[in-house]
Amino acid sequence: MAIAGVSNLSLVDFDGYLTYTIFFSGCNMRCPFCHNSIIVLNNFKDDELSFSSIIEDLKTRINKIDAVCFSGGEPTLDPRLKQFIVEVKKLGFLVKLDTNGTRPEVVEDLLKNNLIDYIAMDIKSSFKKYSIATGVENDLNLIRRSVNLIKSSGVQYEFRTTLVDELHDVETLVEMIENIKPFPKLVFQQFVDRGTCIKKGLHPFPYEKILEVKRRYPDLNIETRGYDSKESR
Ligand code: SF4
Repeated sequence: MAIAGVSNLSLVDFDGYLTYTIFFSGCNMRCPFCHNSIIVLNNFKDDELSFSSIIEDLKTRINKIDAVCFSGGEPTLDPRLKQFIVEVKKLGFLVKLDTNGTRPEVVEDLLKNNLIDYIAMDIKSSFKKYSIATGVENDLNLIRRSVNLIKSSGVQYEFRTTLVDELHDVETLVEMIENIKPFPKLVFQQFVDRGTCIKKGLHPFPYEKILEVKRRYPDLNIETRGYDSKESR
């Protein structure tokens, strides 16, 4: 694992906060729709930016940004993650963690030490079809453990799913919701082919099908991200 890079300012990574995002290289999934294939497939040996240089950079941003997001790739695979977050917390920033949920023991440790302010966990598909959406075999017990841990943590969180027409359908999404409900927020993210995905030839999931799923769950908070605002109304 290594640090693949940073984004100095994001307005979308952590709703309502000016956020600095750190990307870790490497991942234990191979989601066909992953648009970060460069950092997932090229498991960088050396940090593009060192841990200490990022901390120094963050010191210059105190009172200018609110939060730091740890993303990837899969950040929980990096053994330095906890120490990194501890240093970031000392600077007074909020911390958001993006995770695919395969390392519940790491998430648990971070939560126990009050090191996380917000978690976004990817839920890739229904548990039955998980491996189709992740491109690898998954230990679903780990995914379930992460779901339950996060739900009972008291920390703010969202589950999120990137939807792809070739990988998802209405019944699969209904089954997925049954697997994980209740939750305060599930975000359906539009798949965008920027030409950097792991697999070519994938297509966005139609908004009409999302409406069909939402209609079945009028009491659940299911939001969309990346869909045209006219469609999402
Ligand atoms: S989408 Fe996330 S979990 Fe899937 S391969 Fe990319 S970085 Fe890994």
